[in-house]
Amino acid sequence: MSYVHDTIVQLQKSSPAQTEFYQAAEEVLDSLRPLLELNPRYHQHKIIERIVEPERQILFRVCWVDDRGEVQVNKGYRIQFNSALGPYKGGLRFHRSVNASVIKFLGFEQIFKNALTGLPIGGGKGGSNFDPKGKSDAEIMRFCQAFMTELHRHIGPTTDVPAGDIGVGGREIGYLYGQYKRLTTRHEGVLTGKGLDWGGSLGRKEATGYGAVYFAQNMLKSLGEDIDGKTCLVSGAGNVAIYTIEKLYQLGGLPITCSDSQGAVYHPQGINLDTLKLIKETRRSSLREYVEHHPEATYVDVESYPEDGHAVWRYKAHLAFPSATQNELTEADALALLGNGVFCISEGSNMASTASAVDQILQAGIAYGPGKAANAGGVATSQLEMAQNSSMQQWTIEKVDKKLMSIMHDIHHRCASTAEEFDQPHNLVLGANIAGFRKVADAMIDQGVY
Ligand code: NDP
Repeated sequence: MSYVHDTIVQLQKSSPAQTEFYQAAEEVLDSLRPLLELNPRYHQHKIIERIVEPERQILFRVCWVDDRGEVQVNKGYRIQFNSALGPYKGGLRFHRSVNASVIKFLGFEQIFKNALTGLPIGGGKGGSNFDPKGKSDAEIMRFCQAFMTELHRHIGPTTDVPAGDIGVGGREIGYLYGQYKRLTTRHEGVLTGKGLDWGGSLGRKEATGYGAVYFAQNMLKSLGEDIDGKTCLVSGAGNVAIYTIEKLYQLGGLPITCSDSQGAVYHPQGINLDTLKLIKETRRSSLREYVEHHPEATYVDVESYPEDGHAVWRYKAHLAFPSATQNELTEADALALLGNGVFCISEGSNMASTASAVDQILQAGIAYGPGKAANAGGVATSQLEMAQNSSMQQWTIEKVDKKLMSIMHDIHHRCASTAEEFDQPHNLVLGANIAGFRKVADAMIDQGVY
């Protein structure tokens, strides 16, 4: 049996019930075959066995008091997966679906994503099964304070620097940072995504969405195409989706869909960005409201989605930008996209596509940017925030955006040239996994057994 099969079987025994993590590990390990065949040293140094095992996993209880005075108990996680390239870096996710498997798959992906940026950052991830939906501002604050009361022991500006992810935006980072400062008396770059007046970087909020569009731009360029005049499908209605839509408009694209956990909006004249921001950023409410502002748009409730997938992927378009959550693009969705003329997919969300969807997309040979490459603009700009914090500077938006564009160009180049080196020029999944792995594995070998 192959090392991929053996490793997954071993993980199933040692870390049971972690489906999402096995999926992420299998995809990476499978891509590495051609590299490992040529380089026995990775097996000799037991890099595969070492890289799938986190350096440290912190699991803690988070107790807080809700507005009715009742005590609530949640689980908190921080996984410090790999520090070969630098301090652990990766977001915090607050969502009811969070468990050890989800945090582990996200942390594993983060190792290779961070390596691809070319910046000195290791991989980590964290979060909680806390559900922010319907909670008051005061409840969010008390939860964040309770979460940081434990987490602060394990993080620091040169050890582990968390950021946002699903359910963790500027408001949550503010409460977390305030508590860190209160506990440590230190004002330092221990979190990224901070407010602009207290250490945040211009352009960080926009970076993941803008970066996913820049990545698509690079893929399209190699096909002699560009974004201008293209119809685009976007899923999600949070940070990544909103700034993907914003950048698509700036580059002449026409985004016609978005979605949240309750339903999807189809607006053939183009999603109205002001309405979307009003509903999601200001009111924090449901996309259902969108059609009250734009009766010509259609709202599809999640109950009416096709059984085998997601409504957003069933419309005619040229480009697709999954920007909600993992496994949001199924095999049936992939076939629908291909049948409807989509020829470029750039993933803003992590592990957006199921394994069988990825197989269909790769087989079709269209341009496909996997999340660990296409959404790396967020973490890259977080690292730029760390650089500004440690030098006590704040750069202009022009400087940050220029750096983001150049980082996304370089990530695309790294993936594409590695894919070419291994004779699979269109396979950026293989390119991303090998390029990211090789950098981390070489650093691990340099640093001896640990
Ligand atoms: P947000 O919380 O801002 O938005 C997430 C959006 O996706 C919301 O519209 C939410 O709906 C929807 N969503 C979440 N879970 C589900 C689900 N199970 N089914 C359907 N819709 C769902 O998160 P982000 O925009 O920050 O993150 C989106 C994706 O991008 C995630 O995969 C994240 O890991 C990835 N990412 C984020 C980065 C960042 O910088 N923020 C960096 C790199 C990757 P609702 O509004 O109803 O909750």
